[in-house]
Amino acid sequence: MNRRVYLDHNASTPVHPEVVAAMLPYFGECFGNPSSIHAFGREAREGLEIGREQIACFLRVGKEEVIFTSGGTESDNLAIKGVAGARGAGHIITSQIEHHAVLRTCQFLESQGFAVTYLPVGGDGVVDPDDVRWAIRPDTILITIMHANSEVGTIQPVEAVGAIARERGIPFHVDAVQTFGKIPIDLDAFGIDLLSFSSHKIYGPKGVAGLYIRKRTKMVAIQQGGEHERRRRAGTENVSGIVGFGKAVEIRSREMDAEAVRLTALRNRFWAGVSARVPEVRLNGHPTRRLPGTLNMCFRHVESESIVLGLDLKGVGVSAGSACTSGNVEPSYVLVAMGVPLDWAMGAVRATLGRDNSDADIDYVLEVLPPLVERLRSLSPAAVS
Ligand SMILES: *Cc1c(COP(=O)(O)O)cnc(C)c1O
Repeated sequence: MNRRVYLDHNASTPVHPEVVAAMLPYFGECFGNPSSIHAFGREAREGLEIGREQIACFLRVGKEEVIFTSGGTESDNLAIKGVAGARGAGHIITSQIEHHAVLRTCQFLESQGFAVTYLPVGGDGVVDPDDVRWAIRPDTILITIMHANSEVGTIQPVEAVGAIARERGIPFHVDAVQTFGKIPIDLDAFGIDLLSFSSHKIYGPKGVAGLYIRKRTKMVAIQQGGEHERRRRAGTENVSGIVGFGKAVEIRSREMDAEAVRLTALRNRFWAGVSARVPEVRLNGHPTRRLPGTLNMCFRHVESESIVLGLDLKGVGVSAGSACTSGNVEPSYVLVAMGVPLDWAMGAVRATLGRDNSDADIDYVLEVLPPLVERLRSLSPAAVS
């Protein structure tokens, strides 16, 4: 009888029904291997190339500059290791709040002899472009900064960073998994050479993603095999997934602008409701330069996990802004990098809205959340002090 409200769209999204419909033939009639030259193969290749076309058209780039991978994680790995591998040695600039797919790839490259600078962020989660400028060394081979952070939603000044990268002739990679299909991306204006984007964050299927590689960017493949994807990424393409991804992007190109306006208003109403009803709560991330549907809040003297589980019992899916690793609750590295005090950071909760959320959903959460926080605080010894 409980209402079910999904507020975790930065983690994943439901596949759009039109996307499912577009994919279906590619499990059946059009099952061929797109590398085969017979009709079965050609039909599969046609689907693959339609998907590529839809994405290239959305990004306003050449089809030959878009390749497909198994996920945003692989796109990040390929972009960073691919450029690093082409150079053999050197220095990489990134930030402290990147997704693990970027952070851990950079850490791996450190173990292979590369040098990495992890730039700090301000209290609002923004990287200062001047810090990028000062971090550049004669041997800097890559700058990799995300477009928007998945936890707090802060949008980075990629245009300013891109201008610096271009001025110094350094390749610039952007993890745009959280912004692609949500807010505009202008690859030329932003000076981006490599862009990672993923299907399942924008109502497409899981396990398929893309990497834009600007013409003449020097990079090597990171897995060996056949000649797929212009020898940049070996392995038979996920044809049905790519067809679905292309369809999802086409739908986003129609819905994105209006959805961004609607979700920003809904999110702001949500925050206004929470901050009016719950004492000792703070908003994380930049107040305005933020992803439309992202609301990250800290409830002081409550544990994130308790709120997530309490809301789950009410049918509401949100995510914790802290990670439980082997029994110890640790604050989010993003919030720590932003300087959020520990007693606040432990109570971080992320709600991320999407196309299926309505005003009634937010009203329902505003009904169940305040009494839950109040009850948890009454049980918490820290709240008394
Ligand atoms: C989800 C996400 C990824 C990983 O993408 P997958 O397709 O899930 O592998 C990378 N970067 C950011 C910013 C993300 O939000």
